[in-house]
Amino acid sequence: MAWKAPLADMQFVLQHWLRADRAWQAMPAYAEVDLDLAMQVLEQAARFSEQVLVPLNTTGDRQGCTLEHGNVRTPQGFPAAYRAYVEGGWPALACDPALGGQGLPVLLDAAMQEMLFASNHGWAMYTGIAHGAYLCLKAHASAELQARYLPGIVSGATLPTMCLTEPQAGSDLGLLRCRAEAVGEGRYAVTGNKLFISGGDHDLTHDILHLVLARLPGAPAGSRGLSLLLVPKWLEDGQRNAVHCDGLEHKLGIRASATCTLRFEGASGWLVGQAHGGLAAMFVMMNAARLHVGLQGLAHAEAAWQCARDYALERRQMRAVGHALGDADPIALHPAMRQVLLELRVRSEGMRALGYWTAHWLDVAAAAADPAQRTKASKLAALLTPIVKAAFTD
Ligand SMILES: Cc1cc2nc3c(=O)[nH]c(=O)nc-3n(C[C@H](O)[C@H](O)[C@H](O)COP(=O)(O)OP(=O)(O)OC[C@H]3O[C@@H](n4cnc5c(N)ncnc54)[C@H](O)[C@@H]3O)c2cc1C
Repeated sequence: MAWKAPLADMQFVLQHWLRADRAWQAMPAYAEVDLDLAMQVLEQAARFSEQVLVPLNTTGDRQGCTLEHGNVRTPQGFPAAYRAYVEGGWPALACDPALGGQGLPVLLDAAMQEMLFASNHGWAMYTGIAHGAYLCLKAHASAELQARYLPGIVSGATLPTMCLTEPQAGSDLGLLRCRAEAVGEGRYAVTGNKLFISGGDHDLTHDILHLVLARLPGAPAGSRGLSLLLVPKWLEDGQRNAVHCDGLEHKLGIRASATCTLRFEGASGWLVGQAHGGLAAMFVMMNAARLHVGLQGLAHAEAAWQCARDYALERRQMRAVGHALGDADPIALHPAMRQVLLELRVRSEGMRALGYWTAHWLDVAAAAADPAQRTKASKLAALLTPIVKAAFTD
């Protein structure tokens, strides 16, 4: 795989299109961030992606994940790559310094996500939803749950999952059946089956935090009756919680990502947010995931364009009009091929401009000093996020 992080194009978007450094300096939370610092961060992320993740892309996809005695094993090299990611402080990039985060803009996280997904989509599926879970718990979990679980997400010691889908409920979450019953002391017993759960089990972290949509007794029918529960793989007393991985999905392209069937058998869980308010709480996570899915589209478009360019510069067929270099010239010199290559390039550059713009509005929405500017930015980000997801992945 010949992909190289497109750092010059990224810098162009940050510096000339978004003028991000000026915007950051106007926001107290990011006043210390300038273009030099931003590019240093992205250069480090590029090094990690190119040197650690790219070499594991093909091998990871060929090997895939295995399920042995209820435990998922990721491909060779994946746990070590995750350790390097944690040691590099990458999970903490855009998290609150009060929780151990680095307090850098979400815009830089978006650029990093592009690199992680371009270099190894299967591996990046494990880390990709962590920031969404962090935002969801920060916005909706009790102070006690936050104190117990947020530091682990920020440091990377734990990885989260989002458990929505059930066999009979995909797009239509109103059909969810998984249930949660109070068993005292704020604890709930969660019972039901979930499927297609990305990172539902793995060997990258000891603990896994499942964020599960379920129904409390007497909950209204449909999506208004859903509550969100935090269900850890391991309980505080060191016991394994009653969450079991019963199977792995077979699929193309991201075989290194464990897409799990999970069985909750009265597993201990804690309510996040209000009873029956689960969908609104989960939406914080789903929204972050939507932007990331869009960035996955950008990542693949960029990687595809780079492969196409390299091949077109190497492959020689026919003599090029006006440019003939020999008996047969690189196909990149033929006008029709130039058009194809330029169109691919324009599309990925355009996607990067729009995707990073959206991420930048998230920063303005969270950190601008002026409340009116925050509101406007928040509305723009809400408008752009589904467009980014749908358009980029198409
Ligand atoms: C690789 C992978 C990873 C996943 N990871 C997770 C995860 O981590 N957590 C999780 O909870 N889920 C996960 N999912 C599940 C994913 O969220 C569901 O696949 C998705 O919600 C769609 O559900 P479904 O597959 O049952 O399709 P269905 O809902 O059965 O839909 C089938 C088709 O009908 C279309 N359709 C449905 N309703 C309408 C409508 N009203 N109008 C027009 N078209 C419609 C859909 O767009 C789709 O094309 C994952 C799926 C995959 C493939």
